[in-house]
Amino acid sequence: METNIKGIYACGDCTGGLLQISKAVYEGTKAGIQAIGYIRGMKNNN
Ligand SMILES: Cc1cc2nc3c(=O)[nH]c(=O)nc-3n(C[C@H](O)[C@H](O)[C@H](O)COP(=O)(O)OP(=O)(O)OC[C@H]3O[C@@H](n4cnc5c(N)ncnc54)[C@H](O)[C@@H]3O)c2cc1C
Repeated sequence: METNIKGIYACGDCTGGLLQISKAVYEGTKAGIQAIGYIRGMKNNN
């Protein structure tokens, strides 16, 4: 779900495709998990 800007994630209607709540929630979950991974990676590299 990462955008072309590193560490910025998108989900839901703004990513296109199916414009439904279930798809927005699914992508939101994925984006959240990926964002956690990104932040943990930053911490481990410092
Ligand atoms: C009339 C209508 C009926 C629908 N009925 C259904 C249905 O029955 N079942 C279904 O599954 N889906 C339905 N949908 C689609 C569903 O509403 C969307 O797919 C879902 O809300 C997408 O969620 P989202 O979080 O991606 O976007 P949104 O719910 O649109 O949330 C985006 C949020 O970002 C805010 N925002 C925008 N720009 C900025 C900014 N610059 N800064 C800060 N905040 C900003 C907006 O105010 C909004 O609160 C319907 C849509 C419409 C319009």
